[in-house]
Amino acid sequence: MSGQEHFEAGERVAVLTTQPLDRLLDYRAPEGGCFLGAYVEVPLGPRKVLGVVWGPGAGGFDSSKLRSVIRVLDVAPMRSEMRAFLGKAADYTLTPMPAMLRLASRAPGLSDPPSMRKILRRGDRDPDRMTDARARVLDTIEEYGGLAFTPKELADMAGVTPSVVKGLVKQGALREEETPRDLPYPHLDPDLPGKELTQDQATAAAALEEGVKSGAYGTTLLKGVTGSGKTEVYLEAVAATLRAGRQALVLLPEIALTAEFLKRVEARFGGTPAEWHSGATMTERRRVWRMVGQGKAQLVIGARSALFLPFRDLGLIIVDEEHDTSYKQEDGVLYNARDMAVLRAAMCSAQVVLASATPSLETWANAEAGKYKRLDLKSRFGASVLPEMRAVDMRSEDLLPSTWISPTLKFAMKARLERGEQSLLFLNRRGFAPVTICRACGAQVACDHCDSRMVEHRFLKRLMCHQCGETKPVPEVCPSCQVEGKMAPVGPGIERLGEEAAALFPEARIAVLSSDLFGSARALKQRIEEIAAGEADIILGTQLVAKGHNFPLLTLVGVIDADLGLQGSDLRAAERTFQLMRQVAGRAGRAEKPGEALLQTFQPEHPVIRAILSGDEEAFWKAEAAERQAAGVPPFGRMAGIILSGPDLAQVFDLGETLARNDGALRQIGAQLFGPAPAPIARIRGRHRVRMLVKAAKGAPLQEAIARWIAPLRLKGDLRLSVDIDPQSFF
Ligand code: ADP
Ligand code: ZN
Repeated sequence: MSGQEHFEAGERVAVLTTQPLDRLLDYRAPEGGCFLGAYVEVPLGPRKVLGVVWGPGAGGFDSSKLRSVIRVLDVAPMRSEMRAFLGKAADYTLTPMPAMLRLASRAPGLSDPPSMRKILRRGDRDPDRMTDARARVLDTIEEYGGLAFTPKELADMAGVTPSVVKGLVKQGALREEETPRDLPYPHLDPDLPGKELTQDQATAAAALEEGVKSGAYGTTLLKGVTGSGKTEVYLEAVAATLRAGRQALVLLPEIALTAEFLKRVEARFGGTPAEWHSGATMTERRRVWRMVGQGKAQLVIGARSALFLPFRDLGLIIVDEEHDTSYKQEDGVLYNARDMAVLRAAMCSAQVVLASATPSLETWANAEAGKYKRLDLKSRFGASVLPEMRAVDMRSEDLLPSTWISPTLKFAMKARLERGEQSLLFLNRRGFAPVTICRACGAQVACDHCDSRMVEHRFLKRLMCHQCGETKPVPEVCPSCQVEGKMAPVGPGIERLGEEAAALFPEARIAVLSSDLFGSARALKQRIEEIAAGEADIILGTQLVAKGHNFPLLTLVGVIDADLGLQGSDLRAAERTFQLMRQVAGRAGRAEKPGEALLQTFQPEHPVIRAILSGDEEAFWKAEAAERQAAGVPPFGRMAGIILSGPDLAQVFDLGETLARNDGALRQIGAQLFGPAPAPIARIRGRHRVRMLVKAAKGAPLQEAIARWIAPLRLKGDLRLSVDIDPQSFF
């Protein structure tokens, strides 16, 4: 970055806009000049667009035709480290800069002036005549001394008409004041007493605090079973960061962002932190964005995109449940928030804590290699112990057709019901039945737009495509053979399991937790809190129950189909199954009562199932790492997925063939190219999909080679190409 930080009026500046252009645009600095990094509004053709002053203008363009920046927005300029971070993140993910800028400026009303609102305070004078109503208003102000009220709020609180308040203003008993709409967040106090830590926890907390105090970059894996106190420990690192006068960010998988968690943070620091997630109101998001930039929000609790907030001095990033797949954004800009957190921290001399009971193999291997520090919390806090885990061998269980709860599991559930404890049945399949089949001809109902089977959702009374969301009624007549009344559901979904549980235990209160059964994330969270408070006996859940909820009365977990994740061709299938099963099992026995986990499986001798049951995690990771190393796949080799799509299959394949023929840039770095091949889901929303896979050695400059490889490409018509660096899913 050149030394120049301020541009005089009329000087030439280069502006990065949010528009999909592949270069910076030159403008004249406006009246009063502007700073490097300033958020500006610039003319582009007939429109006004948002941009950031990125550096001095390049010249070359006829300066008499140069247009002026319209205005500088009233927000803190983007800091140089943020500009550098966006640049590096763009290079890493092969994302165009305008898309990165859009990620970093997703604040509603960014270009609105910081609006003011009128509030009332006690004036110097007393009213000439005191009435009951007037006295109530003045008492209210007295009572809530520190608080600012709008005229309407004050009238409401005192139970008077607005004219009473107006009268008092006129007489000078109340005084009007203007304050900005975006209020700073309450001060957080790191020195309030935290919980008294156990020896293990205190050692870990001290190590993290030391990292924070160094003021340098560093990443630590904080590993500990669910309930071992990882949250308590990392809150101490947050405290150390606040003490150092820097800001902290805690990233959580969206669904784990609960009121319960916020209350814990509030209790520790004596104030509410800023919250950034899709459920937050527009006003709140605007406030967070602005206050973070001014350093007036010390702590942000957020979902993955909080990483792109304009922190003024970010000193610590916690990535809780770091293995969670929801950290990988799968549409738009394809980035992994865990990896971007490390990148961002490296650029602003911050510490990163990756917390998990079951870290990703990437993180585990980085710790093994000494790139990350590692801290272990070995036992659960207090009396709670890890549940006992057992396999239920389904080959020797007696089940009626179309039922999935084995007698062994049923027996264990019955015991819980009698003791007033909760059971959780886990099945990672939404809907009623995954397949609808015609018993006359064997045809399955498929989506018209996707290469995917329709899933019956009885709750919606429709079939739904899980790729595109298209729904249709369950057909009476088979679409293939036209025979009537033969369409039947096959296989279990979470809703069907709910019916089975209700039939087995008619007296039990049953709760089905699946994301599609709730209108909003808020409604779902509320239901989870009710269940945690004991308002259900049997809980049936999909993947989302594995994430960080605390059900104190839960003592039994039944995994309906432990083999489900083992069949995929995904390179992380074993790792995912291992993590998911352990996380789910970790839900049981969190309070004083010991828990039990039963895994229904047809292959109890499978190495992954055996590793889950034995609890020997290090052995599992070592074996898995050895296999990946031998295959040269992540984290011991590099991969990028290329997805081509378009309405015409032949054209999409042609594009793939052209790319494959011209792969010189890839061969130069010794990379291998696989494909083009039809993607596992070969059609989504009517678009045909073709995948290619690039594999390279660990140290190879993969992004640079791919950029050179695809640069000559001109995409015709409706063809699309997207690059997925370090792909997590292969659909
Ligand atoms: P994790 O994040 O590893 O799942 P938590 O930090 O949520 O674990 O701790 C689990 C439970 O134990 C929480 O209710 C927490 O308040 C409690 N707990 C953990 N450590 C302590 C401690 N040192 N003193 C009191 N309560 C603790
Ligand atoms: Zn579809």
